[in-house]
Amino acid sequence: MKQLRIAIVGMGKIAHDQHVPAIAANPAFKLVAVASPHHQHPGVPSFHSLNELLHAVPDIDAVSVCTPPQLRYDIAWHALNHRKHVLLEKPPGATLSEVQSLVELAERRNVTLFATWHSREAAAVEAARGWLASRRIQRVRVTWKEDVRVWHPGQAWIWTAGGLGVFDPAINALSILTAIMPGAVMLREATLRFPANCETPCAARLLMNDESGAAIDADLDFLQPGAPTWDIAIDTDTGHLLLSKGGSTMYVDGHSIVESTDHEYPRLYSHFAQLARERRIDVDVSPLRLVADAFLIGKRVTTAPFVE
Ligand code: NAP
Repeated sequence: MKQLRIAIVGMGKIAHDQHVPAIAANPAFKLVAVASPHHQHPGVPSFHSLNELLHAVPDIDAVSVCTPPQLRYDIAWHALNHRKHVLLEKPPGATLSEVQSLVELAERRNVTLFATWHSREAAAVEAARGWLASRRIQRVRVTWKEDVRVWHPGQAWIWTAGGLGVFDPAINALSILTAIMPGAVMLREATLRFPANCETPCAARLLMNDESGAAIDADLDFLQPGAPTWDIAIDTDTGHLLLSKGGSTMYVDGHSIVESTDHEYPRLYSHFAQLARERRIDVDVSPLRLVADAFLIGKRVTTAPFVE
């Protein structure tokens, strides 16, 4: 099978921590170039922009877009227009209409577009989906809290419009939720807390329902000191499920069912290779839609300014 010659656009934290090692470990790919305004990558040609990269290395097959979401659309559009397969970091765009436009362009160009949700690849997510499929869900409680100063130091884009604020991590919870719930999830009420000096919220409370009316309550906080809490707890008619540590561990009625280390990005790249071979599109906007709904109907509360 021909190796896919891939470029990374946006050499920030996630590109270094996850994309570079996952590509290196997958024989289906060869990293041949990167584009980033201020960062290079040793051993491969580095460019300031995708434009420059495509001019110098036109024979790439695929592009991974690892920039902040506000920049995703223009870069992805350009890559798709050049008939490159495109992997999008989460969230797939700053708006739903941008993502729809990318899907339509990928269809016209007959190339792959993969909107990744890395948390859906966490070890216990598939097991949780299977366990819930045959049960009646009574109540769901999502607790997604972490310290932005620890996990996103210096990332000013998170606090500017389109950067999502607390929804940058919390969309991971929503990506798991929408993957494991047997039916659609709808937002009913939201309260968003905006630091006085920021364009995005630092905390939120979401009240949702599934189609059967089961209540789903999400408590989201970007300013929790100490260890993060990334839990989804679900009461059903025949037992209690706890997905913990971002979906990597699963307990049923207090008994450990799944406990595993992180293989999220290797799994994303295996799937991307398969999609590219088949020129398929894999884009599910349901987590981003819930975030958009929160911005649509959420009550806004102003809180103390955020100081890094
Ligand atoms: P980051 O560390 O701020 O990196 C973003 C990079 O984008 C920067 O290094 C910047 O490059 C680059 N960039 C800015 N403008 C660009 C342009 N016009 N063309 C090409 N590159 C450009 O952010 P991050 O944490 O890696 O997050 C990036 C995305 O990954 C976000 O959507 C985030 O939600 C997602 N993600 C992050 C994590 C995480 O733990 N950090 C986990 C999963 C997903 P220069 O530095 O060269 O200017």
